[in-house]
Amino acid sequence: MRCPFCGFIDQKVLDSRPALEGDAIRRRRECTACNRRFTTFERPERPRLFVAKRDGTREEFDRDKVLNSMLIACRKRRIPLEDLREAVSHIERALLLDAEEEVSTQAVGERVMRELRGIDPVAYVRFASVYREFETLEDFKSIVDDVIRPSFAVQV
Ligand SMILES: [Zn+2]
Repeated sequence: MRCPFCGFIDQKVLDSRPALEGDAIRRRRECTACNRRFTTFERPERPRLFVAKRDGTREEFDRDKVLNSMLIACRKRRIPLEDLREAVSHIERALLLDAEEEVSTQAVGERVMRELRGIDPVAYVRFASVYREFETLEDFKSIVDDVIRPSFAVQV
């Protein structure tokens, strides 16, 4: 990389440490030509993840879109935004592990439901009702029964 002061391409690295909450490495560099110092941030290039939609088209996985769908389900539930952002990161990592070349919208929806179930049962039921297109009270009853069934908490 070129020194921002003189354009020379070689530096000494004086110091490396985690930055941006562990998402990047910050390096202090000293140009071997002009001896001036500058800082670089190194972070992994995010792998691209594609979502195959039901109509046969595909689009790139969109973290904001997933977050927005979760925010709608979590309306007025006092869930920290940070928890939801963390959940989106879990979802993305899990999908990347599963993905051959792309994942289905169903796989994304199922992952969102799994995360929401751990965060807030009400948000989970709300999301599921839209995602699974609940049409009857029976649909709600069965998922609510499933969430509040005491055995669920005990199961390992
Ligand atoms: Zn320089």
